[in-house]
Amino acid sequence: MTGPWRATVLTLYPEMFPGPLGVSLSGDALARAVWALEMRNIRDHGEGRHKRVDDTPAGGGAGMVLRADILAAALDAAAPADDPRPRLLMSPRGAPLTQARVRALAAGPGVVLLCGRFEGVDQRVIDARGLEEVSIGDYVLSGGEIPAMVLIDACVRLLPGVMGKEESGAEESFEGGLLEYPHYTRPREWEGRAIPEVLLSGNHAAIARWRRAEAERLTRERRPDLLPARKPREE
Ligand code: SAH
Repeated sequence: MTGPWRATVLTLYPEMFPGPLGVSLSGDALARAVWALEMRNIRDHGEGRHKRVDDTPAGGGAGMVLRADILAAALDAAAPADDPRPRLLMSPRGAPLTQARVRALAAGPGVVLLCGRFEGVDQRVIDARGLEEVSIGDYVLSGGEIPAMVLIDACVRLLPGVMGKEESGAEESFEGGLLEYPHYTRPREWEGRAIPEVLLSGNHAAIARWRRAEAERLTRERRPDLLPARKPREE
């Protein structure tokens, strides 16, 4: 054991954390030191009396850009060059986060996450420090903190000992390339709606077949893009 999975977050707003990560599954796991959260305030590396971290965009335009030299100083202090963890920049321009990527990150030593604000960050720090840009979806938020929480939450729930065996995540949405089948629990009938008979049959093979068929149906209806491309039929 080489220590817990470790997330280091660089932000102008460390007080936002642990926030939602401090409750339920992730909060319990944090308290049990299954994972560790280290906050770094970018402002600590700001310049002058006012600890400036940003400046106006070269070339003109609205908003402010986080300075490369300030961010590099914050990154180098938080994660020395030999830190094996991937350095990710939360960014709407990044590769969209997937469950496969989350699994890979959760299997590693942790992550170093840089949260942007304002218009974003100077391109040169992305290039010079080899930051990998990661997006949580095709919409724009006001800062990288919530995206960082999303990424950490998705990883932490997969760490050994966070979810019980039963909820190991193996059958969840995206895991088999499909969306998950529908769930039901008591009462057996509610507002005239019954639980599908097969789920009460005790026939485990039939239940597994039904769930598989429902997962395929939902994926076809809602997310056909997840299904493997069908080979063109030969005439
Ligand atoms: N001007 C930028 C958006 C800046 S939003 C653009 O058009 O691409 C400010 C910060 O919020 C970003 O630097 C990034 O860290 C974060 N952010 C916003 N939307 C995000 C998303 N969908 N995924 C990940 N990070 C996001």
